Amino acid sequence: MAVQNLKATVNSSSSIHPDSIERDENLKTLLSKKKLHLVLDLDNTILESSIIQNLTTYDRDYVGVKLIEEKKVYQWVYEGKGFKDVYVTKLRPNVKTFLQKASTLFDISIFTLGNLTYTTKMIDLLDPERLYINSQVITRENVPLSTPWRKGHDLLSSHERVVLVVDDAKDVWEANAKNLIDIAPYGFFDDESSNKKSWTRKWADESEKYGELARVLRELKKIHKEFYNLEEGEDYESRDVRDAIKEVKRKFSLQGTKEAMSQHAKETINEIDECFKSMEVNCRKNRLNRIQTSHEVM
Ligand SMILES: [Mg+2]
Repeated sequence: MAVQNLKATVNSSSSIHPDSIERDENLKTLLSKKKLHLVLDLDNTILESSIIQNLTTYDRDYVGVKLIEEKKVYQWVYEGKGFKDVYVTKLRPNVKTFLQKASTLFDISIFTLGNLTYTTKMIDLLDPERLYINSQVITRENVPLSTPWRKGHDLLSSHERVVLVVDDAKDVWEANAKNLIDIAPYGFFDDESSNKKSWTRKWADESEKYGELARVLRELKKIHKEFYNLEEGEDYESRDVRDAIKEVKRKFSLQGTKEAMSQHAKETINEIDECFKSMEVNCRKNRLNRIQTSHEVM
């Protein structure tokens, strides 16, 4: 894994701690654009990297011969002080579409425990013209040293109530778990330490249409809609993305459950009753028109 292999160049002057004035300004701008702040992790969330030497023999043959030639995997060189490593990076399927579509609803930041050199290289692959990743880039150099490493809202320029985080590692976001959207880790390369078959072993890849990024994008869109769906008399001051996440989950869990079915049945019966009560109404015209309750039938 890349982040463990790249040496950190921790520099105290690079620490960032946005203050409340900056966050207030940022909030105003986001609300005026009807956007929220999306924070993305890199490794195993939207891509996977490995030093080529760390690949299994199987992957070295398969990736080296086939996928690099086909430009499905990027090979690149990381040069540090006195060392040089050859890396391979595989972008998660659908990631470019994900970034492009998400950028219409969110300001997008990267928050990774990889170092700045590595992160810059990854952003060059993901968004070379910097069209979509338009907010913060937070790297290991910015994160206070701790064991284990932690990520947190304190480095973000937005209020917690407008921040959504997509990261395969839940535990690093312990303090901001309510802002987190679940995503299954992306493991393209073969991993001898795991029983799970990698995508390379299957000669396949995650689906663009039905894979995790497509699912997460759908969820993000619902949360964005829920956040900006104001009730009469409500204003944005009362909105909190953590409530929107909860509400979207609640609605989702209701779908297909007994409770939802019986609620739906109750509403339908009420509408039929109303329809019968008012004999002037031609029930064929309402949405219950499959039920033959018009004057002609009566
Ligand atoms: Mg990760």
